[in-house]
Amino acid sequence: MTEITCQLVVIGAGPGGYVCAIRAGQLGLDTVLVERGKLGGSCLNVGCIPSKAMIHVAEEFEKLVDAASGKTPFGLSAAQPALDFKQAIAWKDGIVHRLNNGVAALLRKAKVKIVQGHARFRDGKTIVVETETGPKTIKAETVVIATGSAPVELPLLPFGGNVISSTGALSLTEVPKSFVVVGGGYIGLELGTAFAKLGSKVCVVEAQDSILPLYDAELTAPITGRLAALGVEVLSGARALGPTARGDGLRVETADGRERSLPADKILVTVGRQPVTAELGLEQLVLDMDDQFIRIGQRCETSMRGIYAIGDVTGEPMLAHRAMAQGEMVAEIAAGLPRAWDERCIPAICFTDPEIVSVGLSPNEARQRGLNIKVGQFPFVANGRAMTRHGEPGFVRVVARADNQRVIGMQAVGQGVSELSAAFGLAIEMGSVLQDVAGTIHAHPTLGEAIQEAAFRALGHAIHI
Ligand code: FAD
Ligand code: NAD
Repeated sequence: MTEITCQLVVIGAGPGGYVCAIRAGQLGLDTVLVERGKLGGSCLNVGCIPSKAMIHVAEEFEKLVDAASGKTPFGLSAAQPALDFKQAIAWKDGIVHRLNNGVAALLRKAKVKIVQGHARFRDGKTIVVETETGPKTIKAETVVIATGSAPVELPLLPFGGNVISSTGALSLTEVPKSFVVVGGGYIGLELGTAFAKLGSKVCVVEAQDSILPLYDAELTAPITGRLAALGVEVLSGARALGPTARGDGLRVETADGRERSLPADKILVTVGRQPVTAELGLEQLVLDMDDQFIRIGQRCETSMRGIYAIGDVTGEPMLAHRAMAQGEMVAEIAAGLPRAWDERCIPAICFTDPEIVSVGLSPNEARQRGLNIKVGQFPFVANGRAMTRHGEPGFVRVVARADNQRVIGMQAVGQGVSELSAAFGLAIEMGSVLQDVAGTIHAHPTLGEAIQEAAFRALGHAIHI
């Protein structure tokens, strides 16, 4: 059995693991990265990137459909739109492939050694990797677990046949005529909206009283309206009972207690994700857990010295940028630098139509913490740039402490607002007060002006409303 000795071994090459390995390599640590699948993990291969590529295809196709039906208010017309779905999938796969190569090149540049295969702990300092050429033992001073997450399966609706996970939905070869989505959260609504635009008849089955229960009703209202306009049926407060007897649909119990059968060529189950810890040899260790997730402290340290955990395997929020930030921090800690997690906020974006961004505290969350707050909200109907682009509903909202005007939260819903997340994060991270945001000259005409106006409004003197 080959044996490798190194300073740092990272298990899992998702956004958490590969960023950790690159930073460790840059800092001169002798680093090994173990991956059993493809570089880039869920995010690059079956998550963030391919889903946004499909959302883009759907948006472009919808524009053609609107033009062909003469629905645009500005007089565009087009011939009968057509979609070569296989080509769309090949284009999406091409982007993923380019990024896989990009990650490999970055790892090479940082002198990280990649070992391809499934890793399992033998003890707290030793990993055994099953590679194509046999087992390899890796002994390391520091170990980082970055094994990520996988879709949750419903016992009544196991994956297989026409019951698919997000991975299956992103590799379909044709657009399903009828598409039922179980779980109206991030993935269900991002992909459900995309398939509705591509021509599927979509129905969303959500167990809670409303879709996207993580966000408040003001933020989700424009999404609900848009889903209705796209012909998407939303059954909230509903329960999936299992496939129909003929396997051509889904039986559900609706909020009023009745049973309904929904026709479905494909049933997409997106009811959350669970940590990947099976077959990892965790029984050889004594790690404190939070339910199924690995418990970590402020420096991503586990309960065993020298073992760190980052990303989805440590629980919510399961977001790529959180995993990356943790990975970068842990690499610096492993190199002896004084680091701890002191970020004020982690942006969350839902790439629905329109998009939702939430950074820091919402008004409800702030009030639940007993804070006395000021809220300023500015609607896109009063923003020139939004009107020239689409005139869709939406707004920017700023939440600040009433006592010292410190900005503690920023949210927005609207087309293209995902790109405002950087400004929101920076304002909160830099400890801005309302006057800082209001006093920053925002370029005209941009959606960003709504940020400044929301701050003005919280201060009691908005200009354009
Ligand atoms: P992962 O990306 O899951 O990577 C873990 C890696 O570890 C995998 O490559 C796996 O093969 C490997 N591994 C596991 N066990 C072993 C083992 N024993 N040995 C060797 N290798 C192992 N997040 C966002 O921030 N924005 C988005 O827009 C977004 N969109 C998403 C869309 C979809 C459809 C999905 C499914 C997820 C999306 N996410 C998004 C979530 C994001 O993908 C995850 O938060 C992110 O990938 C977590 O990174 P990670 O490094 O913790 O784990
Ligand atoms: P989610 O937690 O976002 O949504 C799951 C939804 O399913 C919830 O609304 C929940 O109430 C519902 N649900 C649970 N059990 C159900 C049942 N039996 N029947 C009907 N509904 C049920 O989970 P997801 O959409 O699977 O996404 C998983 C994770 O991936 C998210 O937590 C997020 O962190 C990450 N993600 C992020 C993005 C992004 O950042 N844009 C995109 C996709 C995924």
